Amino acid sequence: MITDDIKKALKAYTEKLEQPVSFVLAEGEHEKRDELVAFLEGIATVSDKLKVEVRTEENKLRSPISFLLETVDAETGETIDTGIRFSGIPSGHEFNSLVLAMLQSGGLKPNLDDSLSSLIKRVDAKLHFEVFVSLSCHNCPDIVQAVNQFALINNNISSEMIDGGLFQTLIEDRDIQGVPTVYLNGELFASGKVEAGTLVENLIKRYPDLNRAAPEKSLPLQDVTVIGGGPAGISAAIYSARKGLNVTLIADRIGGQVKDTMDIENLISVQKTTGPELSGAMYQHMNDYEVTKREHVKVEQVSTEGVNKLVKLSSGEEIRTKTIIVATGARWRELGIPGEKENIGNGVAYCPHCDGPFFKGKDVAVVGGGNSGIEAALDLAGIVKSVTVIEYGAELKADKVLVDKAVATKNVSIIKNAESKSITATNGKVSSIEYKDRTSGDVHSVPLAGIFVQIGLVPNSQFIADKVETTRFGEIIIDEKSRSSESGIFAAGDVTTVPHKQIIVAMGEGAKASLSAFEYLLTQYSEDENSGQKEEERSAA
Ligand code: FAD
Repeated sequence: MITDDIKKALKAYTEKLEQPVSFVLAEGEHEKRDELVAFLEGIATVSDKLKVEVRTEENKLRSPISFLLETVDAETGETIDTGIRFSGIPSGHEFNSLVLAMLQSGGLKPNLDDSLSSLIKRVDAKLHFEVFVSLSCHNCPDIVQAVNQFALINNNISSEMIDGGLFQTLIEDRDIQGVPTVYLNGELFASGKVEAGTLVENLIKRYPDLNRAAPEKSLPLQDVTVIGGGPAGISAAIYSARKGLNVTLIADRIGGQVKDTMDIENLISVQKTTGPELSGAMYQHMNDYEVTKREHVKVEQVSTEGVNKLVKLSSGEEIRTKTIIVATGARWRELGIPGEKENIGNGVAYCPHCDGPFFKGKDVAVVGGGNSGIEAALDLAGIVKSVTVIEYGAELKADKVLVDKAVATKNVSIIKNAESKSITATNGKVSSIEYKDRTSGDVHSVPLAGIFVQIGLVPNSQFIADKVETTRFGEIIIDEKSRSSESGIFAAGDVTTVPHKQIIVAMGEGAKASLSAFEYLLTQYSEDENSGQKEEERSAA
């Protein structure tokens, strides 16, 4: 299971281990037990700092296919339970979560920025996170890795990855229909489209004092603050850093929409890649430069302080900056019909790659016949029993090549001219969607277990809509130099009026916004500063 190539790569990584790390299992029997033990022993062979231990008396673990990570305190030599547990065999997308947990338990610095670390360190209640995942879910590792790091920096916190595929009874008992789903102290904490930022937001809602405490130290005045960590934001941050500017990037999810994409074949010079690969590569590229990062937190508000701007984060931190580049992209548009919001995570889903496996052998619908809708239908067709595409217009808007494939796929049927009206649930689970035939006016009901909403995207501009001009759709209006209506605020990518929302376009726009911000700092900023001072003097007189 652990191939020689993987061992070679692990060996290089584990050279960074400062402290020993043990994978501790309890005794017991399970059909997957031997596989798990072989898997962990395979990993342990790469370094003499790693070992697998089986303890008769171990009672902190859920099952014979669960294990925890222990290390040793560098100063006292005492054994420390890291608080990190895995239930299942963390292969597939979770393999990275295990490797990271192992390296960070053994001394590698957690990857949380200072502001988030200090927020998490302030938690003084006992918190146990259970993260339900599927090994094919590419969004799940973000959550597992975030809570594992919370556990490492705060002894009050523990975390457990649970592979839903191996804990079916638990999944059924808790009625889980989508991953990642997160429980905190045995209660549902976040489900549906969960991101690490959502966890932090929910934590702050539950413990409001967390973001009231002053951050440990504030950043000096920044030249550029980039809001957003998708292709546009990362490109803007790299370009700004290369100009020698001091730059901070704030993102609730590094990678942005790229993380929701499986196959990418149109990033010129990269023939074929996947969303997780490209996000990782963009992140690594940014790490080559001096960019201060604030991850898993959101910008809540932007205000002005004379010529400078003040950016307020959900963690409570405030960042003063000379310029801002808004690159906050877009999020899935909701249908806004009865039964949708109430059933997110119980049959209503937005991410086919993440939640498709939960509808194996069932009937589902995809609402929306654009490129993402038809791509979703084709993806789902390989997993589910049947897919009904419900399209509002008279024709599908997707590219012809996709439409032809969908028409030729046996278990995909297409209903056009159909207005989705409501979603019905039975016993807490989606059971049908009702739509109106826009030609006859008749209302029909399609019995099904899942509905994937794919009707486009909404720009993430609400937090700044009172500062800059936007269109009625919420896109920030920019000129050819990426300037918004407010001096010193630039915007790039999907959140703007620039047409053709694509990765390569967003990257180019991010670069352009950064170069324009640089030009502004060299020229206009001091003029704005002078006129601001004169204005203040006039008001004082
Ligand atoms: P995004 O990628 O949306 O990134 C926005 C960033 O802002 C994220 O980091 C987000 O966390 C952050 N953010 C948002 N609000 C806040 C806030 N208030 N505070 C802090 N941070 C915030 N394009 C292609 O070229 N090829 C493809 O194959 C392709 N496939 C796609 C498949 C799918 C399913 C989807 C949804 C899109 C696809 N696209 C594709 C489009 C492409 O992903 C986008 O055009 C591109 O990601 C836009 O980049 P962006 O940086 O402007 O925004």
